[in-house]
Amino acid sequence: MRVEIVAIGTELLLGQIVDTNATKIAKMLRDIGVDVFYKTTVGDNDARIVEVLNIALNRADVVITSGGLGPTVDDKTRQGVATATGRALVYSYELEEQIRARFRGFGREMAENNKRQAFIPEGAQILTNPVGTAPCFLAEDTQGRGAIISLPGVPRELEYMMTHTVIPLLIERMGGAKIIKAHILRVSAVGESNIDNVITDLMELTNPTVGLAAHGGITDIRVAAKANNEAEADALIAPIEAELRQRLGVTIYGTGTDTMPGVVAKLLTDRGLTMSVVDVITRGEVAQWFAQENLAHLLTNPQQFPNIATMIEQLELDPTDLPAGLAAKIARHIKPEHGLGLAMVGPFAQNSCFLAVAGPDDFVQVWPNHSYSDDEYRRKWLTIQGLDWVRRVLLGQLTSPVDWVQS
Ligand code: ATP
Ligand code: MG
Repeated sequence: MRVEIVAIGTELLLGQIVDTNATKIAKMLRDIGVDVFYKTTVGDNDARIVEVLNIALNRADVVITSGGLGPTVDDKTRQGVATATGRALVYSYELEEQIRARFRGFGREMAENNKRQAFIPEGAQILTNPVGTAPCFLAEDTQGRGAIISLPGVPRELEYMMTHTVIPLLIERMGGAKIIKAHILRVSAVGESNIDNVITDLMELTNPTVGLAAHGGITDIRVAAKANNEAEADALIAPIEAELRQRLGVTIYGTGTDTMPGVVAKLLTDRGLTMSVVDVITRGEVAQWFAQENLAHLLTNPQQFPNIATMIEQLELDPTDLPAGLAAKIARHIKPEHGLGLAMVGPFAQNSCFLAVAGPDDFVQVWPNHSYSDDEYRRKWLTIQGLDWVRRVLLGQLTSPVDWVQS
């Protein structure tokens, strides 16, 4: 089912109030699996309200309006909905009675201008509003394009009506609520555009949908399915996940809330290993990330140096060694007896830097990289990259189906 939201009120267009109603409605619709493709804001102007409602009716099954149901002349929603749905605006004595009763409930008399609120599109279904005086209604379009549901602008009333009346009504109209289930695959240090290239066709799917979100060296692939229940959603997601795993292989390091330090820590723990780190690029990110997840015990003697000269001096290295050789030497030098050594050193000339991992049986591998400037993003990127190489060494998988080794 497609629902479109129309927020009515000139003050919204003037930037005097923020349209929180549309956001609230959108979220509630999403939770029951309704598609929202458009939301529009329009001022208190008869012709423009009708125009917007007509456009919405043409492309949606149900239109929900917010605001403009009050008793003043600038409350134009009733007339707009009547015109758009091809109905006359008629006076409802039933509504007048309801409004009067509400005022009586507050111990007040109904003002004369409140009678304006007793007008509704002819044949519309009254949706009783027990928390306010503005009556709500549902008007079916006379051309069969769907229905318009009109709700008050006051956020508290709108939310009440959405929860207690509109959502149940929409679920019934859909023949049952849908759920949207999202499954996240997390991809390391590969770059969003590289992933995009490999899975472009999958990103055109409609159910499940496949989308990307990149942050700090990690790309999340979100596979979201709409279905009648969780099991159905899982069945839709499974083949797409299998296809993604086939294409992206070892670059997928986890799912859901998995973190890179967490994944590496588990691999180390499972194998009874620890890791040692020398870091001259990221100011100790690896150690910090492990500490944040209470995994510091897996790091033996992490060392961090402010620059290469200090590192060479303190580790008593040969300053004439080439950078790559230096990185390899350090990784090997710091490697604990049962574990891995990770060296992250740089920047050297042209901002190059080197990540090296040393493992059992004299294994050592060096990857050139760019250190760029020492900004937050780069630090995260290189840390992810360093930990990812450790992960791949631990898995015995240094290459992926797609050759993304950065050089
Ligand atoms: P009333 O009977 O109170 O006049 P109404 O249906 O006519 O209700 P409006 O007059 O449009 O609604 O808005 C009432 C109040 O609700 C506004 O002053 C504003 O504070 C708030 N409001 C209206 N529209 C929105 C919106 N889209 N998002 C958040 N708040 C809104
Ligand atoms: Mg009003």
